[in-house]
Amino acid sequence: MPGSPAQARFEVGLPPVEPFLDAETTAQGLERWFPSHRRDLPWRRNRTPWRTLVSELMLQQTQASRVAERFESFVGRFPDARTMAAAGENVVVAAWEGLGYYRRARLLYAAAVRICDVHDGEVPSSTEALLALPGIGRYTAGSIASIAFDCRTPIVDGNVIRVVARLEAIDAAADDPALVKRCWETADALVGAAKSPGVLNESLMELGATVCTPRLPSCDRCPVQTWCAAFRSGRAASMPRPKSRPARRIVHLYPVVLRRDDRVLLRQRPLRGIWAGLWELPSVESADPLEVPAIASGLGFKVDDLRQVETFKRLLTHREVHFHVYEASTRIRRGHWCDRVVSAELAMAKPMRSLVDRRVWASDWPGG
Ligand code: SF4
Repeated sequence: MPGSPAQARFEVGLPPVEPFLDAETTAQGLERWFPSHRRDLPWRRNRTPWRTLVSELMLQQTQASRVAERFESFVGRFPDARTMAAAGENVVVAAWEGLGYYRRARLLYAAAVRICDVHDGEVPSSTEALLALPGIGRYTAGSIASIAFDCRTPIVDGNVIRVVARLEAIDAAADDPALVKRCWETADALVGAAKSPGVLNESLMELGATVCTPRLPSCDRCPVQTWCAAFRSGRAASMPRPKSRPARRIVHLYPVVLRRDDRVLLRQRPLRGIWAGLWELPSVESADPLEVPAIASGLGFKVDDLRQVETFKRLLTHREVHFHVYEASTRIRRGHWCDRVVSAELAMAKPMRSLVDRRVWASDWPGG
Protein backbone atom coordinates (compact mmCIF):
# COMPACT_ATOMS: atom_id res chain seq x y z
CA MET A 1 0.00 0.00 0.00
CA PRO A 2 1.30 3.44 -0.78
CA GLY A 3 2.30 5.54 2.24
CA SER A 4 2.62 9.29 2.52
CA PRO A 5 5.80 11.01 1.31
CA ALA A 6 6.71 11.81 4.92
CA GLN A 7 6.40 8.13 5.90
CA ALA A 8 8.48 7.07 2.91
CA ARG A 9 11.27 9.49 3.88
CA PHE A 10 11.18 8.19 7.44
CA GLU A 11 11.34 4.57 6.16
CA VAL A 12 14.50 5.14 4.14
CA GLY A 13 16.13 7.30 6.80
CA LEU A 14 16.33 10.57 4.85
CA PRO A 15 15.37 13.94 6.26
CA PRO A 16 12.61 15.86 4.46
CA VAL A 17 14.07 17.98 1.65
CA GLU A 18 13.09 21.02 -0.39
CA PRO A 19 13.86 19.97 -3.95
CA PHE A 20 15.25 22.41 -6.51
CA LEU A 21 12.63 21.27 -8.97
CA ASP A 22 8.88 21.20 -8.57
CA ALA A 23 8.42 17.55 -7.68
CA GLU A 24 4.70 17.44 -8.32
CA THR A 25 4.85 18.99 -11.80
CA THR A 26 7.85 16.88 -12.80
CA ALA A 27 6.28 13.69 -11.48
CA GLN A 28 3.07 14.42 -13.38
CA GLY A 29 5.04 14.99 -16.61
CA LEU A 30 6.86 11.70 -16.20
CA GLU A 31 3.74 9.72 -15.30
CA ARG A 32 1.81 11.11 -18.28
CA TRP A 33 4.64 10.28 -20.67
CA PHE A 34 5.44 6.73 -19.60
CA PRO A 35 2.35 4.70 -20.66
CA SER A 36 2.61 5.71 -24.32
CA HIS A 37 6.42 5.69 -24.59
CA ARG A 38 7.55 2.67 -22.61
CA ARG A 39 9.34 -0.13 -24.38
CA ASP A 40 7.44 -3.38 -24.76
CA LEU A 41 9.57 -5.60 -22.52
CA PRO A 42 8.62 -9.15 -21.48
CA TRP A 43 8.48 -8.51 -17.73
CA ARG A 44 6.06 -5.63 -18.32
CA ARG A 45 3.54 -7.77 -20.20
CA ASN A 46 2.65 -10.00 -17.31
CA ARG A 47 3.47 -8.59 -13.92
CA THR A 48 3.89 -10.73 -10.82
CA PRO A 49 6.14 -9.97 -7.83
CA TRP A 50 8.36 -12.96 -8.73
CA ARG A 51 8.77 -11.89 -12.36
CA THR A 52 9.53 -8.35 -11.19
CA LEU A 53 12.16 -9.62 -8.73
CA VAL A 54 13.81 -11.85 -11.34
CA SER A 55 13.84 -9.10 -13.97
CA GLU A 56 15.32 -6.55 -11.55
CA LEU A 57 18.15 -8.91 -10.61
CA MET A 58 18.80 -9.70 -14.26
CA LEU A 59 18.81 -6.02 -15.17
CA GLN A 60 21.56 -5.21 -12.66
CA GLN A 61 24.58 -4.66 -14.91
CA THR A 62 23.00 -6.22 -18.03
CA GLN A 63 21.34 -4.38 -20.91
CA ALA A 64 17.55 -4.63 -21.16
CA SER A 65 17.77 -5.98 -24.74
CA ARG A 66 19.95 -8.90 -23.59
CA VAL A 67 17.66 -9.61 -20.62
CA ALA A 68 14.61 -9.43 -22.92
CA GLU A 69 16.03 -12.25 -25.06
CA ARG A 70 16.47 -14.55 -22.08
CA PHE A 71 13.73 -13.57 -19.65
CA GLU A 72 10.76 -15.72 -20.71
CA SER A 73 12.75 -18.92 -21.07
CA PHE A 74 14.37 -18.33 -17.66
CA VAL A 75 11.12 -17.66 -15.79
CA GLY A 76 9.46 -20.44 -17.78
CA ARG A 77 12.02 -22.78 -16.23
CA PHE A 78 11.73 -21.21 -12.77
CA PRO A 79 8.17 -19.83 -12.59
CA ASP A 80 8.27 -19.24 -8.84
CA ALA A 81 10.61 -19.22 -5.87
CA ARG A 82 9.76 -22.81 -4.90
CA THR A 83 10.69 -24.21 -8.30
CA MET A 84 13.97 -22.34 -8.23
CA ALA A 85 14.84 -23.38 -4.68
CA ALA A 86 14.10 -27.03 -5.57
CA ALA A 87 16.23 -26.91 -8.73
CA GLY A 88 19.50 -26.23 -6.88
CA GLU A 89 22.16 -23.59 -7.32
CA ASN A 90 24.12 -25.25 -10.13
CA VAL A 91 21.04 -25.58 -12.33
CA VAL A 92 20.16 -21.92 -11.79
CA VAL A 93 23.72 -20.79 -12.55
CA ALA A 94 23.78 -22.90 -15.74
CA ALA A 95 20.46 -21.38 -16.88
CA TRP A 96 21.94 -17.92 -16.27
CA GLU A 97 24.65 -18.41 -18.89
CA GLY A 98 25.03 -15.48 -21.25
CA LEU A 99 23.80 -12.90 -18.75
CA GLY A 100 27.22 -12.39 -17.12
CA TYR A 101 28.02 -11.46 -13.51
CA TYR A 102 27.17 -14.98 -12.34
CA ARG A 103 27.27 -13.99 -8.70
CA ARG A 104 23.78 -12.60 -9.30
CA ALA A 105 22.51 -16.08 -10.22
CA ARG A 106 23.81 -17.49 -6.94
CA LEU A 107 22.26 -14.60 -5.03
CA LEU A 108 18.95 -15.05 -6.87
CA TYR A 109 18.96 -18.72 -5.93
CA ALA A 110 19.76 -17.80 -2.29
CA ALA A 111 16.93 -15.24 -2.36
CA ALA A 112 14.52 -17.92 -3.63
CA VAL A 113 15.56 -20.23 -0.77
CA ARG A 114 15.00 -17.47 1.78
CA ILE A 115 11.64 -16.55 0.24
CA CYS A 116 10.59 -20.19 0.70
CA ASP A 117 12.03 -20.50 4.22
CA VAL A 118 10.84 -17.18 5.62
CA HIS A 119 7.96 -15.98 3.42
CA ASP A 120 6.18 -19.19 2.51
CA GLY A 121 7.27 -18.95 -1.13
CA GLU A 122 5.85 -15.47 -1.76
CA VAL A 123 7.98 -12.41 -2.55
CA PRO A 124 7.63 -10.09 0.48
CA SER A 125 6.05 -6.69 -0.09
CA SER A 126 7.89 -4.52 2.42
CA THR A 127 11.12 -2.75 1.55
CA GLU A 128 12.62 -3.96 4.83
CA ALA A 129 11.91 -7.63 4.06
CA LEU A 130 13.14 -7.23 0.48
CA LEU A 131 16.38 -5.68 1.73
CA ALA A 132 16.94 -8.75 3.89
CA LEU A 133 16.99 -10.99 0.77
CA PRO A 134 20.41 -11.91 -0.69
CA GLY A 135 21.43 -9.79 -3.68
CA ILE A 136 18.88 -7.06 -3.03
CA GLY A 137 20.17 -3.59 -2.23
CA ARG A 138 18.40 -0.31 -1.79
CA TYR A 139 17.79 0.30 -5.51
CA THR A 140 16.45 -3.19 -6.26
CA ALA A 141 14.30 -3.26 -3.12
CA GLY A 142 12.83 0.12 -4.10
CA SER A 143 12.13 -1.08 -7.66
CA ILE A 144 10.38 -4.26 -6.56
CA ALA A 145 8.44 -2.58 -3.75
CA SER A 146 7.22 0.24 -5.99
CA ILE A 147 6.59 -1.70 -9.20
CA ALA A 148 5.13 -4.89 -7.72
CA PHE A 149 3.44 -3.45 -4.61
CA ASP A 150 3.09 0.29 -5.38
CA CYS A 151 5.08 1.25 -2.26
CA ARG A 152 6.28 4.83 -2.13
CA THR A 153 10.00 3.95 -2.17
CA PRO A 154 12.55 5.87 -4.23
CA ILE A 155 15.11 4.35 -6.58
CA VAL A 156 18.49 5.65 -7.69
CA ASP A 157 20.75 3.98 -10.24
CA GLY A 158 23.04 5.33 -12.97
CA ASN A 159 20.07 6.34 -15.15
CA VAL A 160 18.33 8.19 -12.33
CA ILE A 161 21.56 9.94 -11.30
CA ARG A 162 21.99 11.20 -14.86
CA VAL A 163 18.39 12.43 -15.12
CA VAL A 164 18.39 14.16 -11.73
CA ALA A 165 21.85 15.71 -12.21
CA ARG A 166 20.59 17.23 -15.46
CA LEU A 167 17.18 18.29 -14.19
CA GLU A 168 18.90 20.12 -11.36
CA ALA A 169 22.07 21.06 -13.34
CA ILE A 170 24.43 19.56 -10.76
CA ASP A 171 27.93 19.68 -12.22
CA ALA A 172 29.56 16.76 -10.39
CA ALA A 173 31.03 13.34 -11.15
CA ALA A 174 28.35 10.64 -11.43
CA ASP A 175 29.76 8.83 -8.40
CA ASP A 176 30.23 11.92 -6.23
CA PRO A 177 28.66 10.95 -2.87
CA ALA A 178 27.06 14.39 -2.49
CA LEU A 179 25.36 14.02 -5.90
CA VAL A 180 24.21 10.49 -5.11
CA LYS A 181 22.76 11.68 -1.78
CA ARG A 182 21.00 14.54 -3.54
CA CYS A 183 19.57 12.09 -6.11
CA TRP A 184 18.08 9.93 -3.35
CA GLU A 185 16.46 13.03 -1.86
CA THR A 186 15.06 14.14 -5.22
CA ALA A 187 13.90 10.62 -6.14
CA ASP A 188 12.17 10.48 -2.77
CA ALA A 189 10.46 13.81 -3.39
CA LEU A 190 9.34 12.68 -6.87
CA VAL A 191 7.96 9.33 -5.72
CA GLY A 192 6.29 11.13 -2.82
CA ALA A 193 4.51 13.44 -5.26
CA ALA A 194 3.54 10.70 -7.75
CA LYS A 195 0.08 9.27 -8.30
CA SER A 196 1.58 5.83 -8.84
CA PRO A 197 5.03 5.21 -7.31
CA GLY A 198 5.65 2.24 -9.64
CA VAL A 199 4.84 4.24 -12.78
CA LEU A 200 6.96 7.17 -11.60
CA ASN A 201 9.99 4.99 -10.87
CA GLU A 202 9.73 3.07 -14.13
CA SER A 203 9.31 6.29 -16.02
CA LEU A 204 12.48 7.77 -14.46
CA MET A 205 14.42 4.62 -15.40
CA GLU A 206 12.92 4.59 -18.89
CA LEU A 207 13.69 8.26 -19.48
CA GLY A 208 17.34 7.66 -18.53
CA ALA A 209 17.57 4.56 -20.73
CA THR A 210 15.85 5.86 -23.86
CA VAL A 211 15.79 9.70 -23.90
CA CYS A 212 18.17 11.20 -21.36
CA THR A 213 21.03 9.00 -22.55
CA PRO A 214 24.69 9.51 -21.58
CA ARG A 215 26.26 11.15 -24.63
CA LEU A 216 23.46 12.60 -26.73
CA PRO A 217 20.26 13.20 -24.76
CA SER A 218 17.20 13.57 -26.99
CA CYS A 219 15.95 16.71 -25.26
CA ASP A 220 13.58 17.49 -28.16
CA ARG A 221 11.39 14.53 -27.16
CA CYS A 222 11.77 14.79 -23.39
CA PRO A 223 8.58 15.14 -21.34
CA VAL A 224 10.31 17.22 -18.63
CA GLN A 225 12.38 19.49 -20.86
CA THR A 226 10.48 22.58 -19.65
CA TRP A 227 11.75 22.05 -16.10
CA CYS A 228 15.28 20.88 -16.94
CA ALA A 229 18.00 23.24 -15.72
CA ALA A 230 20.80 21.57 -17.71
CA PHE A 231 18.80 21.89 -20.94
CA ARG A 232 18.10 25.55 -20.24
CA SER A 233 21.79 26.23 -19.69
CA GLY A 234 22.83 24.21 -22.77
CA ARG A 235 24.96 21.80 -20.71
CA ALA A 236 22.84 18.64 -20.84
CA ALA A 237 25.40 16.42 -22.58
CA SER A 238 28.21 17.33 -20.18
CA MET A 239 26.35 16.50 -16.97
CA PRO A 240 27.03 14.58 -14.85
CA ARG A 241 30.78 14.25 -15.37
CA PRO A 242 32.07 10.70 -15.94
CA LYS A 243 33.05 8.51 -12.99
CA SER A 244 36.75 8.13 -12.39
CA ARG A 245 37.60 4.61 -13.57
CA PRO A 246 40.31 2.60 -11.83
CA ALA A 247 42.85 1.06 -14.22
CA ARG A 248 42.09 -2.54 -15.22
CA ARG A 249 44.24 -5.16 -13.55
CA ILE A 250 46.03 -7.51 -15.96
CA VAL A 251 45.43 -11.23 -15.43
CA HIS A 252 47.19 -13.98 -17.39
CA LEU A 253 45.07 -17.11 -17.81
CA TYR A 254 46.50 -20.37 -19.15
CA PRO A 255 43.64 -22.77 -20.12
CA VAL A 256 44.78 -26.23 -21.24
CA VAL A 257 42.79 -28.42 -23.65
CA LEU A 258 43.04 -32.09 -22.58
CA ARG A 259 41.14 -34.70 -24.60
CA ARG A 260 40.34 -38.35 -23.97
CA ASP A 261 38.25 -40.33 -26.46
CA ASP A 262 35.30 -38.05 -27.24
CA ARG A 263 35.61 -36.08 -23.99
CA VAL A 264 37.39 -33.02 -22.71
CA LEU A 265 38.55 -32.34 -19.15
CA LEU A 266 36.67 -29.50 -17.44
CA ARG A 267 36.73 -28.27 -13.89
CA GLN A 268 35.00 -25.75 -11.70
CA ARG A 269 36.72 -22.49 -10.83
CA PRO A 270 37.17 -21.50 -7.18
CA LEU A 271 34.14 -19.95 -5.51
CA ARG A 272 35.95 -16.65 -5.06
CA GLY A 273 37.51 -14.37 -7.63
CA ILE A 274 36.95 -13.94 -11.35
CA TRP A 275 34.15 -16.15 -12.83
CA ALA A 276 33.66 -17.70 -9.40
CA GLY A 277 32.26 -21.25 -9.49
CA LEU A 278 31.93 -21.41 -13.29
CA TRP A 279 33.35 -24.26 -15.37
CA GLU A 280 36.47 -24.03 -17.49
CA LEU A 281 39.25 -25.88 -19.20
CA PRO A 282 41.78 -26.58 -16.41
CA SER A 283 43.59 -23.28 -16.10
CA VAL A 284 46.41 -21.57 -14.29
CA GLU A 285 45.94 -17.92 -13.38
CA SER A 286 48.75 -15.49 -12.69
CA ALA A 287 49.42 -11.77 -12.38
CA ASP A 288 52.64 -12.26 -14.40
CA PRO A 289 53.42 -14.19 -17.60
CA LEU A 290 54.40 -17.82 -16.93
CA GLU A 291 56.82 -20.23 -18.61
CA VAL A 292 55.81 -23.80 -19.55
CA PRO A 293 57.19 -25.47 -16.37
CA ALA A 294 55.21 -23.09 -14.15
CA ILE A 295 52.00 -23.73 -16.14
CA ALA A 296 52.52 -27.50 -15.94
CA SER A 297 53.09 -27.47 -12.19
CA GLY A 298 50.26 -24.96 -11.58
CA LEU A 299 47.68 -27.36 -13.03
CA GLY A 300 48.06 -29.71 -10.07
CA PHE A 301 48.37 -32.92 -12.13
CA LYS A 302 50.86 -34.30 -14.63
CA VAL A 303 50.61 -33.32 -18.30
CA ASP A 304 52.82 -34.04 -21.31
CA ASP A 305 53.46 -32.26 -24.62
CA LEU A 306 52.28 -28.88 -23.36
CA ARG A 307 52.19 -26.55 -26.36
CA GLN A 308 50.68 -23.14 -26.99
CA VAL A 309 47.99 -22.97 -29.67
CA GLU A 310 46.51 -19.47 -29.46
CA THR A 311 46.34 -16.24 -27.51
CA PHE A 312 43.65 -13.57 -27.20
CA LYS A 313 42.58 -10.84 -24.84
CA ARG A 314 39.24 -9.98 -23.22
CA LEU A 315 38.33 -6.80 -21.35
CA LEU A 316 36.16 -7.13 -18.25
CA THR A 317 34.96 -4.22 -16.12
CA HIS A 318 37.91 -4.33 -13.75
CA ARG A 319 40.33 -6.68 -15.47
CA GLU A 320 42.15 -7.25 -18.73
CA VAL A 321 42.40 -11.02 -19.18
CA HIS A 322 45.15 -12.38 -21.44
CA PHE A 323 44.26 -15.89 -22.56
CA HIS A 324 47.24 -18.12 -23.44
CA VAL A 325 45.65 -21.34 -24.68
CA TYR A 326 47.60 -24.60 -24.54
CA GLU A 327 46.96 -28.19 -25.55
CA ALA A 328 48.52 -31.19 -23.83
CA SER A 329 48.01 -34.87 -23.09
CA THR A 330 47.59 -36.55 -19.73
CA ARG A 331 47.16 -40.01 -18.27
CA ILE A 332 44.98 -38.97 -15.38
CA ARG A 333 41.52 -40.54 -15.27
CA ARG A 334 39.95 -38.69 -12.36
CA GLY A 335 38.09 -35.41 -12.85
CA HIS A 336 35.18 -34.28 -15.00
CA TRP A 337 35.75 -35.72 -18.46
CA CYS A 338 32.78 -34.28 -20.30
CA ASP A 339 31.23 -35.06 -23.65
CA ARG A 340 29.64 -32.36 -25.77
CA VAL A 341 26.19 -32.68 -24.16
CA VAL A 342 27.46 -32.40 -20.58
CA SER A 343 29.80 -29.57 -21.52
CA ALA A 344 26.85 -27.61 -22.95
CA GLU A 345 24.95 -27.95 -19.67
CA LEU A 346 27.72 -26.53 -17.46
CA ALA A 347 27.81 -22.78 -16.83
CA MET A 348 30.86 -21.11 -18.34
CA ALA A 349 31.95 -17.51 -18.75
CA LYS A 350 31.39 -16.25 -22.29
CA PRO A 351 35.05 -16.24 -23.43
CA MET A 352 35.57 -19.75 -22.01
CA ARG A 353 32.40 -21.04 -23.68
CA SER A 354 33.43 -19.73 -27.07
CA LEU A 355 36.95 -21.11 -26.58
CA VAL A 356 35.62 -24.58 -25.73
CA ASP A 357 33.10 -24.51 -28.58
CA ARG A 358 35.65 -23.31 -31.10
CA ARG A 359 38.71 -25.32 -30.13
CA VAL A 360 37.13 -28.50 -28.80
CA TRP A 361 33.71 -29.12 -30.31
CA ALA A 362 34.15 -27.35 -33.66
CA SER A 363 37.53 -28.93 -34.35
CA ASP A 364 38.03 -31.95 -36.61
CA TRP A 365 38.81 -34.10 -33.54
CA PRO A 366 36.45 -37.16 -33.39
CA GLY A 367 34.59 -35.76 -30.32
CA GLY A 368 34.00 -32.45 -32.08
FE1 SF4 B 1 17.62 14.89 -19.99
FE2 SF4 B 1 17.39 16.66 -21.96
FE3 SF4 B 1 15.24 15.81 -20.64
FE4 SF4 B 1 16.97 17.40 -19.46
S1 SF4 B 1 15.70 17.91 -21.22
S2 SF4 B 1 16.04 15.56 -18.56
S3 SF4 B 1 18.89 16.69 -20.31
S4 SF4 B 1 16.58 14.58 -21.95
